[in-house]
Amino acid sequence: MNIRIGNGYDIHRLVNDRPLIIGGVNIPYAQGLLGHSDADVLTHTIMDAMLGALALGDIGHYFPPTDPQWAGADSIKLLQAVDRLIKAQGWQINNIDSVIIAEAPKLKPHIKSMCDRLAQALDLEISQVSVKATTNEGLDSMGQKASIAAHAVVLLVRI
Ligand code: MG
Repeated sequence: MNIRIGNGYDIHRLVNDRPLIIGGVNIPYAQGLLGHSDADVLTHTIMDAMLGALALGDIGHYFPPTDPQWAGADSIKLLQAVDRLIKAQGWQINNIDSVIIAEAPKLKPHIKSMCDRLAQALDLEISQVSVKATTNEGLDSMGQKASIAAHAVVLLVRI
């Protein structure tokens, strides 16, 4: 077998007095995502998809939220650790497709920066990294600006 596919999902609560970091990009907004690490919902989602592709469990297994060493962690660094893990097993990313669900702030102006940051962190071409954004039409916690969620699919190929 020379290809493996994985999917990821994550959601974080929007709260006051936190920076908003999505896809490794600091986005100016009155609120940020709550979490043990920097709560980068998109990066967590992609990590879970990478691990899922190789049936290696989930990020909670590798970076437990109860472990103080991950408090405030830069999720891009965790992403790079997962990338090293999959490479050590003989796999690399072919492409990532992702979608962020956020009613606010408007993410369109930041999408290119997220793709650049993720591609750079993972040593990929921009054409291998897709980040999309949508709203939840005012429905549920995402639509009511109480949370931001993300979904991702990652295809791995043998090195
Ligand atoms: Mg998370």
